[in-house]
Amino acid sequence: MRFDVLVIGAGPAGLTAGLYVSRAGWRAACLERLAPGGQAALTSRVDNYPGFDEPVSGFELCRRMEAQAKRFGVEVVQGEAQGLAVAAGSVVVRSAEATLRADAVVVASGARPRELGVPGETELRGKGVSYCATCDGPFFRNQAVAVVGGGDSAVEEAMFLARLCSRVYLVHRRDEFRAVKTVVERALNDTKIVPVQSAVVTRIAGTDGVEAVEVRNVSTGATDRLEVAGVFVYVGLLPNSEFLAGQVARDGAGYVITDEDMLTSAPGVFAAGDVRKKSLRQISTAVGDGAIAAMSAVRHLQGLRAQSR
Ligand code: NAP
Repeated sequence: MRFDVLVIGAGPAGLTAGLYVSRAGWRAACLERLAPGGQAALTSRVDNYPGFDEPVSGFELCRRMEAQAKRFGVEVVQGEAQGLAVAAGSVVVRSAEATLRADAVVVASGARPRELGVPGETELRGKGVSYCATCDGPFFRNQAVAVVGGGDSAVEEAMFLARLCSRVYLVHRRDEFRAVKTVVERALNDTKIVPVQSAVVTRIAGTDGVEAVEVRNVSTGATDRLEVAGVFVYVGLLPNSEFLAGQVARDGAGYVITDEDMLTSAPGVFAAGDVRKKSLRQISTAVGDGAIAAMSAVRHLQGLRAQSR
C-alpha cells in the first residue's frame, strides 16, 4: 500500500494530521492497531477541550474527530507499526499485516499507561487491576476501589469512579498532588474519595481477584491494608516509540525529539502528540501538533514533487 502521507496512530494527533493532509488534497491514511481515539477515547470526561462548553466524554470527542477525518477521505488501516526505514526519498513502515510506503510519515503513536511494578499487579491484571476506569469502572459498582497516582489522570478518573463505587482511595506517593489545583479541590471535596498521601503501594493482594492493596507511608514507615475489589493504576505514560529505534532520535525516556515544525531527525518523518518530547500533553496540544506535522509533511511532499519535475 502506498500513500502520500502515512500517519502512525489514530488518536487526536493522528486524526488531525490525517484531516489536514487530506483536506489539502493529498492521500492520507492512519495506521491504527486498536480502535481510533487512542488514550483520549478512554478518558471519562474532557473538560478543557475548547469548543465544548459542557464536558464531553473522550469517546464521543474522538468519535467526532474520526468521523470528520473520514469525511475528508482519511483511510484508517488496521495494523501495528513494527519498524520504519527511510530509503531513497520514501518511508517504509512495516506492520505484521503489510508493508506500507509513503512520501512522508507522521508518527502519532501516542503513549501507554506505565505499570506500577509491584507484586500482584501482573497476576491480577484483568482480575481487578485495571488501567482504564471508563472501561472497567462499572464492574466495581458499590464496591471500594483504589486509584494509584497523583496526576490529572488519577484525580479525574477517581472522580469518575466515585460516581459508581462506594469508596475510592486515592493513593499518592507525595503529600501534594501533581494534578491541576481546581480538579484536586473538586476531588477532595467528594466525600467518597479518601486521599492516602505520602504512601506507596507495596503489594496488590488477592487470589482470584483483587482483595486489598498494601501501602506504606513513606514518612513514617507505617503500613496499612486497604480492602478493595479493584485497583486503577494511573502513574504516568510510556511512549509508543520502540519501533523507531535506530531510525529516529529519541530522548532518554523514549519520547521522539522534533523541531518546532514537528520534523524528527529522519527526513520525511514527523511526529505529533503524546509520543513527542514536549512540556504539555493534552488533547488540545496533540491536535495542534497534528496540524503542524501535517502541513510540514505537505511542504515536504511539494519539495519532493518539485525536485522530480
Ligand atoms: P503524570 O502527569 O505523569 O502523573 C503521574 C503520577 O503518577 C504522578 O503523580 C507521579 O507522582 C505518580 N507516579 C509515577 N510513578 C509512580 C510510581 N512508580 N509509584 C507511584 N506513583 C507514581 O501522568 P498522567 O496523570 O497519566 O497524565 C499524563 C499526561 O496527560 C500529563 O501531561 C497530564 O497533564 C495529561 N492529562 C491531562 C488531562 C487534562 O488536562 N484534563 C487529563 C489526563 C491527563 P509524582 O507526582 O510524585 O511524580
